[in-house]
Amino acid sequence: MTQTFLVQLAYITASILFAFGLKFLSSPATARRGNMLSACGMLLAVLATLAGHQIISWQWILIGLMIGSAFGTLVAFKASMTQMPEMIALLHGCGALASVFVDWVHYEKLLHEIIFSISAVESIMLYLSIVIGALTFTGSVVAWAKLSERLPGKPLLFFGQQWINGLILISILVSGALFFQHPSEIMYFYTFLAFSCVFGVLLVIPIGGADMPVVISVLNSYSGVVACTTGFVINNTLLIVVGALVGANGIILSIIMCKAMNRSLTNVLFGGFGQVKKRTADGIKKEAHPISVEDAQLILEAAKTVIFAPGYGMAVAQAQHAVRELTHVLENNGCDVKFAIHPVAGRMPGHMNVLLAEANIPYDQLLEMEAANPLLETTDVAIVIGANDTVNPAAINEKSSPIYGMPIIETFKAKTVFVIKRSMASGFAGIENDLFYYDNTRMIFGDAKDVVQRLVAEFKTK
Ligand code: NDP
Repeated sequence: MTQTFLVQLAYITASILFAFGLKFLSSPATARRGNMLSACGMLLAVLATLAGHQIISWQWILIGLMIGSAFGTLVAFKASMTQMPEMIALLHGCGALASVFVDWVHYEKLLHEIIFSISAVESIMLYLSIVIGALTFTGSVVAWAKLSERLPGKPLLFFGQQWINGLILISILVSGALFFQHPSEIMYFYTFLAFSCVFGVLLVIPIGGADMPVVISVLNSYSGVVACTTGFVINNTLLIVVGALVGANGIILSIIMCKAMNRSLTNVLFGGFGQVKKRTADGIKKEAHPISVEDAQLILEAAKTVIFAPGYGMAVAQAQHAVRELTHVLENNGCDVKFAIHPVAGRMPGHMNVLLAEANIPYDQLLEMEAANPLLETTDVAIVIGANDTVNPAAINEKSSPIYGMPIIETFKAKTVFVIKRSMASGFAGIENDLFYYDNTRMIFGDAKDVVQRLVAEFKTK
């Protein structure tokens, strides 16, 4: 058996491990196994690549490995759970940048050969790889800056934006066409590389905060496509298969997220949605109704059914363990407790599922939004804990609202709604929430963990 055959065999095995890893990742019950399988696949792929013939310099590999591992370890230890989405955005960008470098080096290598030769398919793949890779890198950096509030989350729009975008797109296409005719002219290569970098920035800056979940998963998909095209450029089957898997998964996730927000993908990417419209004052002074922890406990003690609607604030407060304790106390009191999970609650897909699983809340207590909403009408108390946009009735009642049409957890239908948050501040989309002023809503102001712990203590002193 030749070495090449063994490397290919390892690549196929790694691809199978990745495919099963992804399958297992689709359910919380099997997700850990999925992660493990994928990690084994990655280890096998790295070892097989290192055992291949194409290694030019061990020193540079070692230097890269040390810098990458040190940086990755530092970031992983430093980043809190709530910073995960911005970290994911940055990691997608790094993946795309790595692909751009691989393609670029491959091209330079071809240029330095005695007889320059590149096939039509190879030059198309090289072009696609550089264009998508460069725009994914700069787009991801902008998404990271928006999510980490280094750039304003609202859409950045300016006069003539569409025209400038159009001109840049034309420049990318024209330089590409010239490159196909004269592939040894590096100027054309640099031109579409530079314009694609600028295009990535311009594509993401007009997208508003509320649409960031979709942007992140679209960028995830792009980074997969780039890995795939790079696989064609350097003739690596593993990159082709894995890139296609990541690309397809990213696009499926984007479609699921769009459905969750009742939007189309094109509308998200090109609609300038998420723009925060200031509501004209309706002249009516609205008043919220605060309630003390002691009084809230009395209502909970009498409740037979409770549904929690968790959101980003639960993650910030790290209140999930306290919530599990409150769940136990309520259940011991004969109450039926469920959790309503909105697909974009928190700051990353599955954010609430991860937190609640970490606190050992059984999966069968977690209801998807469609299953939870019909139950809310007959629910005694809905506890909104650190959620805001995902429970905002403006999505149903207010045509002018930027979130109009997005399905929400309809907590306002419950007999009583408790909203646990620190102030009357708005959520990620930056819009007011009328739920706080509803007659059946009671605000419990404070840090989510602290409030829940006080509720538990109140139950225990009775
Ligand atoms: P929101 O971001 O709408 O609101 C979170 C609320 O939590 C805030 O109003 C805040 O109010 C409160 N909060 C913050 N810290 C605490 C704390 N320590 N204790 C108690 N409350 C706290 O959250 P949702 O989960 O409802 O909505 C998610 C939003 O994020 C959506 O707009 C979604 O589109 C967007 N998004 C989602 C992503 C995803 O993939 N899931 C990715 C990126 C964005 P206060 O300051 O008054 O306490």
